[in-house]
Amino acid sequence: MKPLGPIPAGYDTIDGELAIGGRKASDLVAEAGDTPLFVYSAAHLRRRVADLRAAMPQRLALHYAVKANPYAPVLHEMSELVDGFDIASGGELALVRAAGVDPRLISFAGPGKRDGELEAAIAAGATLNLESEGEADRALAIAGRLGETPRLAIRVNPDFDLKGSGMKMGGGAKQFGIDAERVPALARRILASGAEWRGFHIFAGSQALDAAAIIDTQAQTLKLAARLAEESGAALPHCNLGGGFGIPYFPGDTPVDLAAIGEALGEAFETLPASVAETRFCIELGRFLVGEAGVYLTRIVDRKVSHGEVFLIVDGGLHHQLAASGNFGTVVRRNYPVAIASRYAAPATEEASVVGCLCTPLDRLADKAGFPHADVGDLVAVFCAGAYGASASPAQFLGHGPALEMLV
Ligand SMILES: *Cc1c(COP(=O)(O)O)cnc(C)c1O
Repeated sequence: MKPLGPIPAGYDTIDGELAIGGRKASDLVAEAGDTPLFVYSAAHLRRRVADLRAAMPQRLALHYAVKANPYAPVLHEMSELVDGFDIASGGELALVRAAGVDPRLISFAGPGKRDGELEAAIAAGATLNLESEGEADRALAIAGRLGETPRLAIRVNPDFDLKGSGMKMGGGAKQFGIDAERVPALARRILASGAEWRGFHIFAGSQALDAAAIIDTQAQTLKLAARLAEESGAALPHCNLGGGFGIPYFPGDTPVDLAAIGEALGEAFETLPASVAETRFCIELGRFLVGEAGVYLTRIVDRKVSHGEVFLIVDGGLHHQLAASGNFGTVVRRNYPVAIASRYAAPATEEASVVGCLCTPLDRLADKAGFPHADVGDLVAVFCAGAYGASASPAQFLGHGPALEMLV
């Protein structure tokens, strides 16, 4: 038998069933009308942001990285909770604007921004996190043509990465950002161009659970920002320190120690060098804010036994849950937190694998794990489904189509 990942805090049992936001899974499915269904809990989002704010220095602003979950009701909820939105495409710009977010709270990073995307962002008044000198040239030319003052920041490719992170996005040769040693020259050019100088964006990695690694990266990031600001010859107005706070997905994972990170950052803020003494700092988080707030509900359509192994076959799968199937940025497949939602209070009595409905052996949501006896019609819950689920899975693969989504 293989272990399952830890079920996040904040979920209850009502009448023996999993409850999300105080409502039974079967009632939520009935309201949505069908499975598979992503349910996101607004109470969970609010609690998460409140916990984060309580732990971090007041000076630190909090941004939401939209790519983790761009579902419109989630964006609307987040617009009342965070201080800014980080987007990575013109499509996300349109989604965030449709959610009523003030464009001045939006910053746009991402390699390969097309001219049309640069134009839309500049016209809206969003900040561009420039990923290359060439992109800076294009942005300045487009702004000139539009008669707009562009708001420009530089995404720095730092010379370090976030240790232990699931996805490294800094250190060495990267398609992201501008190598640190070339940043001051570009910053001087932007300052001289008459653009609104918005500072640096320094993102070193994602999905780290080790507070010591995050603290170390933040210290290096502050040091780098201060040095580059000094070499740029201007005080730094704004600095995005990146993020990288992870959530526990797998057996043995433990939550990040927010208090330790907040304390270290608070101390660092008290002894800042002159070039960043007045800087407005933020962090940008995706999965940490929304990941544990989401549950994917899918119904068992068949139960079969093959060579003594029980398979629970559901109407969902990797086309909505690529990460849970182990095919999105993982080397060794391990089980996410998965449960039989309709028998949530029942003890595990058998070993079974939960597999999706796609015609590929990759489509496995839980491998040889312990569950209560479940049958056709039962609901399965995959937890930690709030980030990189619906938005990062191949929904068109095999023609089953996208899942339903709801915010409760
Ligand atoms: C993906 C990404 C994020 C969000 O990462 P999470 O692991 O979801 O917090 C933040 N910033 C940048 C630049 C990213 O590419």
